[in-house]
Amino acid sequence: MTTAYLDRLSQQLDALAAAGRRRVTRPVAAADAAHVERDGRVLLNVSSNDYLGLSRHPLLIERARSWAETMGVGATASRLVCGTLEAHAAVEDKLAAFKGTEAALVLNSGYQANEAMLAALLMPDVAGKAPLVFVDRLAHASMHEGLKAAGVRQIRFRHNDMAHLEDLLRKREGEPGPRFIVTESVFSMDGDRADLPALCDLAERFGAFLYVDEAHATGVLGPHGRGLTCDPAVAGRIHMVMGTFGKALGGFGAYAACSSTVRDWLVNKAGGFIYSTALPPTVLGAIDAALDLVPTLEAERARLHANADRLRAVLSARGLDCCGSTTQIVPAVLGTEDAALSAMAALETAGVLAVAIRPPTVPAGASRLRFALSAAHSDADMDQLISAVEALA
Ligand code: PMP
Repeated sequence: MTTAYLDRLSQQLDALAAAGRRRVTRPVAAADAAHVERDGRVLLNVSSNDYLGLSRHPLLIERARSWAETMGVGATASRLVCGTLEAHAAVEDKLAAFKGTEAALVLNSGYQANEAMLAALLMPDVAGKAPLVFVDRLAHASMHEGLKAAGVRQIRFRHNDMAHLEDLLRKREGEPGPRFIVTESVFSMDGDRADLPALCDLAERFGAFLYVDEAHATGVLGPHGRGLTCDPAVAGRIHMVMGTFGKALGGFGAYAACSSTVRDWLVNKAGGFIYSTALPPTVLGAIDAALDLVPTLEAERARLHANADRLRAVLSARGLDCCGSTTQIVPAVLGTEDAALSAMAALETAGVLAVAIRPPTVPAGASRLRFALSAAHSDADMDQLISAVEALA
């Protein structure tokens, strides 16, 4: 590695810092499911994705520990070598039953899953014609990476704009190549929901493969927290559903819920599945316990959604744009990066850890605070959050 190259990295990092864009990792100590400790201060955590507080649940901790004791802390190999334990198969069966699909596959993270699965699925047709991929403009970075890895051209439709999607599909009706529609059921930065029935209708009408990311819906929305893709109006109409275990399910890892054919295809073609060490028993134990618990957590889901309603009411009364949020993710658009950063700093002074989201994660001029609520937030926590928000200029 030449010194000149390293100097260039340093200069570019300095330039990022000068523009206020240099990212740093700031450690926190997890105090409990609703709080973190940083620099000796306890902060109310409204930034995590631990929507049901399961990261601290005794059943998950106990099963992670007992599976480690019986199976070890590592899977020791990739899935296709000798890393597929009976526990992987059992968790996948449980997951398929939870999602109501023929088959399921666990993968190592949501990011890796989207990247690897999209790259594997987006094949040309038998005549070698490239796929036409219609993707919501606000789809997560991991999906855009998957599309890049597949080497396909993205046809982006305006966020949640079904008329625009229909128009784009119609305009290309005569073109060759298989169609794919790629979206999320709950959008990570806006906290709004996709119109899944309309997406299913369009996918069926235009013969498109429908791919839906349920990272933020799994555990939280849909019948018994099974996700929005399990709502009766759309169940069985979506070709590929993916989600993560690192958010409402409290642990780590990701899943695909699909037909046996799609699962077999991924096992044969998804590099991020084939060439990576399998999820370890500790993680599988936590997933297994979370899948047992989630359907029973109706009271926690009701509390979570009530917390979100309460915060949204306060923000909307102050004239703030919450981006159509109807979920536990509640943005408050403040406009400039400075406005978002100073609001974040003021909240931190008031003992609240909320995160400012800025370009390139969101469009310029749409910098915001992104509140992620949890069933672990008590009434007193919500009182603290609301007073801190009301005290903002
Ligand atoms: N999809 C969406 C919509 C997400 O928000 C995230 C997490 N930020 C991911 C995928 C990636 O999941 P994971 O954190 O498990 O890598």
